[in-house]
Amino acid sequence: MGENYMSMKAVAKTQPGYGNFELINLPIPNEPSDHEVLIEIKSVGVCGTDLSIYKWTETVAKEYNPSFPLIPGHEFAGVVKKVGKKVINFKVGDKVAVNPHISCGKCQFCKNGSQNICQHRPILGCHANGGLTQYVKVREQNVFRLPDHLPIYLGSLAEPMSVAVHALKRVENDKNNTAVIVGAGTVGLLQVIACRAAGYQKVMVLGLNVDKGRLKIAESLGAISINIETQDVFAAMKQHIGMPYADVVFEAAGTNSSIKLSIDIVKPTGSVALTGIASSSTDIETTKLVFAEKSIIGCRAYNLATWPITMELMGRSIEELKLIVTHRKTISEFAEAIELLITRESLKVVIEPHKM
Ligand SMILES: [Zn+2]
Ligand SMILES: [Zn+2]
Repeated sequence: MGENYMSMKAVAKTQPGYGNFELINLPIPNEPSDHEVLIEIKSVGVCGTDLSIYKWTETVAKEYNPSFPLIPGHEFAGVVKKVGKKVINFKVGDKVAVNPHISCGKCQFCKNGSQNICQHRPILGCHANGGLTQYVKVREQNVFRLPDHLPIYLGSLAEPMSVAVHALKRVENDKNNTAVIVGAGTVGLLQVIACRAAGYQKVMVLGLNVDKGRLKIAESLGAISINIETQDVFAAMKQHIGMPYADVVFEAAGTNSSIKLSIDIVKPTGSVALTGIASSSTDIETTKLVFAEKSIIGCRAYNLATWPITMELMGRSIEELKLIVTHRKTISEFAEAIELLITRESLKVVIEPHKM
């Protein structure tokens, strides 16, 4: 066996500070232990969190505090290469996606099924090594089988799709026919797929001039798209959904103004599901919430129970998912992937680490 045979390529953040992403060689992880699975990674989604790690924002430095080199990438999928002795749910060759949140399983939140609130929960690709490499070893309970007929490059969408599926679940008790999604990024557009599959009759996506291409994709997914820089939101809502309010609003942009807009356009008694993370605190007029009994519902990532629902949804949304991935890159083209994210020319960039 030559040296190449035993080593794998990985994109790694080699030290703190802006940039510092390098392509390095690391040993392939050794034998999986009893309850672990070794995965050959075929698809890694690059997202805003990876960009924050690249830029090394204050929040990232404080929140993650990783050791270096850190392999980023929390959206990944691949094919099972080896299984530990006690693994019964997976076999070599299975197509799988990974839930990167390694929740403790012991705290009150984990025990109640809210693993997303667990306080002892390293995230692969953020606190610990993630998927922007060729092989990864993961404990079996974080691995989920992808639909057989799903092209594997789409597999990494399971992670952001789970965010959308969880947000939908958070508002499922409301009687909802119309949804407005504020923000035309990956989660926003995956929210379109989730809402339509759940039977929402009208789905509208709000974006900016810079989102032109993304708003087109939203329309291909069956949504009504509105550029809020050139169109009047309330008039557009009246025209397309018959009233200036939506039953539910999914806030997937995470800015002060988008959160305020979301509160304004949800119906009295309606809910705003927040999936975007505002980088600074926002000044909300609470009377708007009190007088009209509107609710703001925080939606954080997903739980273990979310993933099987995601897998089923992905299995019947393959053509839609193909519209979300706008670029496919090799691992040595990671710098171009970052650049595409910075310029917002892409929707989702997927890196395929085994293609050279
Ligand atoms: Zn992500
Ligand atoms: Zn826990």
